Amino acid sequence: MTIRPPAPIIAAVATPPGRGGIGIVRVSGPELDRVIDGVVGKRLAPRIATATTFRDASGTALDVGVALFFPAPYSFTGETVLELHGHGSPAALRLVLARCLELGARIAEPGEFTKRAFLNGKLDLAQAEAVADLIDAATSTAARAATKSLTGEFSRDVQAIVAAVTELRTYTEATLDFPDEDIDFLRGHDAAGRLQTLRTALARLLSRAQAGALLREGLSVALIGRPNVGKSSLLNQLVREDAAIVTSIPGTTRDTVERSVELAGIPLTIIDTAGLRETRDEVERLGIERTWSAVERSDLALVIIDARDAIDALEGADAALLARLPVSLPRIVIHNKTDLASIAPRVEIRVAEALPRRHIWLSALTGAGIDLLEQEVLAMFSTHGETEDAFLARERHLVALNDAARHLGIAACHIGESSPPLELFAEELREAQKLLGSITGEFTADDLLGVIFSRFCIGK
Ligand code: GDP
Repeated sequence: MTIRPPAPIIAAVATPPGRGGIGIVRVSGPELDRVIDGVVGKRLAPRIATATTFRDASGTALDVGVALFFPAPYSFTGETVLELHGHGSPAALRLVLARCLELGARIAEPGEFTKRAFLNGKLDLAQAEAVADLIDAATSTAARAATKSLTGEFSRDVQAIVAAVTELRTYTEATLDFPDEDIDFLRGHDAAGRLQTLRTALARLLSRAQAGALLREGLSVALIGRPNVGKSSLLNQLVREDAAIVTSIPGTTRDTVERSVELAGIPLTIIDTAGLRETRDEVERLGIERTWSAVERSDLALVIIDARDAIDALEGADAALLARLPVSLPRIVIHNKTDLASIAPRVEIRVAEALPRRHIWLSALTGAGIDLLEQEVLAMFSTHGETEDAFLARERHLVALNDAARHLGIAACHIGESSPPLELFAEELREAQKLLGSITGEFTADDLLGVIFSRFCIGK
C-alpha cells in the first residue's frame, strides 16, 4: 500500500466550450471551505441547490447562479465537490474559474475528476472508461451500450468470471499444497466441467464486447458502382436513418469523399468511389490515391448494379475497380432499382471461390429491402447479429478477454490429460485471472492509468 500525499484541489469548467444556457465550474478536493468561503461567502447545505452570487476577492459579483455542495465521500470523485452553476458565458466562466484558482485550486488535467473517482473506488476502470465512451458516443445505440458499462453491468460479468476462476484455483492450489489430496479431489469438484462453463460464459462476454467495439469504432464502407446506378440514392436512404449525425469531410481537392451515416446503430463511414476514374490532373490524382487507400482499408464494399441486369453484370470501369479491391475484403452486391424490375427485395448468398458472395435486391428509391441490408451487415460484423445487448468495450478489453480465453483453453487441455500437470493448469488459471482483473483495474499499472485518463476531455 503506497501512501499518497493529500490530493490538491482541482477545478475546471465542466460544460463544453462556447456559449450556452448554463455553464458549470466543478471543484474537487479533500476539503473546500476556503473556496466556498471565497466564492460564495456562505455555508452551503449538502446536496441542496443554493441560489447565490459568485464573487471575486473584492466582493464584486462575477456571476449569479446556483451552488451545489457534495461533502465527501458522497460525490462523483469521492472527495468533497463544489459545483458552481452560472451562465454559459465563456468569459464569466473564466472569471469564476480564476477565482477558484486564486483560492488554492489548480486546473484539472483531462480526465482527472474521473481518475479520482477511480482511485477512490467510486468507479472501476471499465466504468471510468465508459464515462469517456458515453461522452464520445456517436450513435444512440453506442450511448446505450456505454451506459450499460457505466452502470457496472460489464464489470459485474467480468467479475463473475474472475470469481469462478478464483474458485477453481482454490481447489487446484489445495491439491498442490496437500499432495495427499490427489487429482481425484479436483475430479470430485468437477474441475473440467466448471472450466467448461466458465469458458462458455467468457465466450459469450467476448462476443457482446465485440459487438460493442463495433458500435464504438464503426465500419468503413466503400460504395462502388457505375454512374446512375443509385449510389447517392442508397446513401440518402441510409442517411435518413439519422440525418442529425451526417457530417461531411471535405476532400482537399474535389467534393466530399467520405460521409458518416448510421446503420442499425453502427456508425458507418461511407467512402464514395464516384471520383475513382483515370485522370491526368495531378491534384485530382492525389485525391484519388487517398480515396483508394481508404477503400483498401475499408471493412466492407457495397457493389451496386442494376437489378435489371444479369447477376454478374459488372462491366468496364466497375470490373477494374473490383479487380483492385483486396481479395479478402467482404462485399455485398446490391441489385438496385427492384421497383423498375418488378422484383421483390431478397437476399441470396452464393459461395464463389473462398468468399461467400452476398446479393441483396432492394430499391434505394422506395427504401424496400434496406432492412435486409441492415440485417446482413449486422450478421456479417456482429457475432450475434445483435447490438442491443452489447457492451461498449475497448480494444484493451477485447485483448484481455481474448488472451484470458486462450489461457483457459490451454488449461482445458491440461485438465483433460490422463495425469494432468497441475502446476501448469494452476498457472494458466492465474494468468487468466490477472488478465480479467486488468479490465476492471484490479491489477493495473500506473502508466496505463495515465494513458487512459489523458484521453478524456478537461472537466471530466
Ligand atoms: P449514382 O450516380 O450512382 O449516385 O446514382 P443516383 O443515386 O444519382 O441515381 C441515379 C438515378 O437513378 C436517379 O434519377 C435516381 O432517382 C434513380 N434511382 C436510384 N435508385 C433507384 C431505385 O431504386 N429505383 C428507381 N426507380 N430509381 C432509382
